[in-house]
Amino acid sequence: MKKRKLDNARSIVEDILGEIEKRSYAVGSDPAAINHFQTELRQLEDKVSLECLRGIPHKYLALIREKVGAEIIEALDPGKLGAVFKNRDRIHLVYKKIAVLVEKDNHALNTALESLREIDRLKYVQKEMVESQTAHLQEMELIEQRLLQSQWLIDTQLQSFEEAMSRIIAFLEAKHIEVYLFDDDHFLTNKLNTDGKAFIYNKQQEATHDLPHAIEAPTFQEVQESIYETPLIVEGRQIGHYRILCAITPDFDRDRWIKKVALITPIAARIIEANQNRLHAAKVYTDDLTQLYNKRKLNEQMGRMFKQFKTGQKKLFVSMIDIDKFKILNDTYGHPVGDEVLKRAALIIRDGVPYAYRYGGEEFCAVFYGYEKQDVIDALENLRKCIETTSFAIDGIEHSITISSGIAEFEIGMNAVMDAIDRADKALYVSKEDGRNRCTYYDDIKDRYLTDASRLRQRNIMLEEEITLLRQQLSAAKDQRTAG
Ligand code: GH3
Ligand code: MG
Ligand code: MG
Repeated sequence: MKKRKLDNARSIVEDILGEIEKRSYAVGSDPAAINHFQTELRQLEDKVSLECLRGIPHKYLALIREKVGAEIIEALDPGKLGAVFKNRDRIHLVYKKIAVLVEKDNHALNTALESLREIDRLKYVQKEMVESQTAHLQEMELIEQRLLQSQWLIDTQLQSFEEAMSRIIAFLEAKHIEVYLFDDDHFLTNKLNTDGKAFIYNKQQEATHDLPHAIEAPTFQEVQESIYETPLIVEGRQIGHYRILCAITPDFDRDRWIKKVALITPIAARIIEANQNRLHAAKVYTDDLTQLYNKRKLNEQMGRMFKQFKTGQKKLFVSMIDIDKFKILNDTYGHPVGDEVLKRAALIIRDGVPYAYRYGGEEFCAVFYGYEKQDVIDALENLRKCIETTSFAIDGIEHSITISSGIAEFEIGMNAVMDAIDRADKALYVSKEDGRNRCTYYDDIKDRYLTDASRLRQRNIMLEEEITLLRQQLSAAKDQRTAG
């Protein structure tokens, strides 16, 4: 076996040497040709090495691999082969070269295989890295989103109460939010029951009431809304609840919306809790039915304005407004209908004057600071017309009402706020006397009032004189009886 291989090796080497000899003979003794031959030989060697390195089998290498295999290296003992070849040194050199080439080839092959395995491994690692990087990026995006959301929520909590609430309304794309807060004594603490006192926040202030107004063409409206009520809980303690009203548009995504509500509710609870005292204070100053300021607020605000008026240059007016024949409406349609009309009329009044208050019952008070007399008269006249022409539709029935009012201007000489309010009241009384649905300015009826008063005083004197006369007659009669 070994011998056959050696024979093969020998024939290859002989082939190579034959080639070399052939060329040597051709070259002869020409030094230039020898030089050329040597260069060619080096080039050949280089080529062999190069191709071997690239892993492409050269014709020699192919032969060696095919016929000899790696075992030839063991047999490369020039001593053993010495007898066979004439030029021992040269053969030795060529064998060595072949051996080196075979070794190089093996090495190259192994390296190539290893590289391939390494490439596979690297590809796998790369794939894993790409996957984990993608997951990482997605996670980063998520974190960034959460971060922005948290930032927004923190930011919202730092805003003023009104600003925070309007942000929440915008976030929820709601129409408005009603907040119900428990009283200190937790009156009616059922899950969604409260004392019923609500704070209502609207996206658009003017949209709070849909006032019937004159239209030129028929209109059709379909109202669809989603109402979500959720308790407001701060650190396990329920402080009330809130109700969110949201219009259902074609692209309304119920689940997404509910998720948003769930996200914002704890924040809303904190914001409301932080403002609870203020809100409870607001309740003290607001009228439950109409949501207008009440008499308490009027007294406090008027006190301040009166002081300012006394030291400043601005004029101050007060007007008393009363709904005409309101008792009839109540008696005919019931108190709840009366309440509803009162509520809607209050909103019209609120929008028609700078400061509006519910004075009590169906009476309101309006205050004008820094206005001219004519502005005040015009405002009240417009208000009167607006109320007169408004149709209050309730349960399919249209109701209409009118108002009477009286206006008085504050005077520097006045000692108390009530002095002006009394005058406005007197003017209101005159409006009623003169047939209602009108507005009276106190100065215009002052004389009439004075004449009325002096007439009364005159009558009083006459009556007193009459009484004195009668007393005298009575005692005279008594005296007569005693004497008789
Ligand atoms: P006028 O002022 O024109 O002289 O007649 P009036 O009928 O409005 O006056 P009056 O003072 O006799 O009656 C006021 C009525 O207003 C009595 C009551 O039925 C009604 N009223 C007062 N407060 C409320 C309220 O909060 N809700 C309802 N529904 N009615 C109220
Ligand atoms: Mg009345
Ligand atoms: Mg009244």
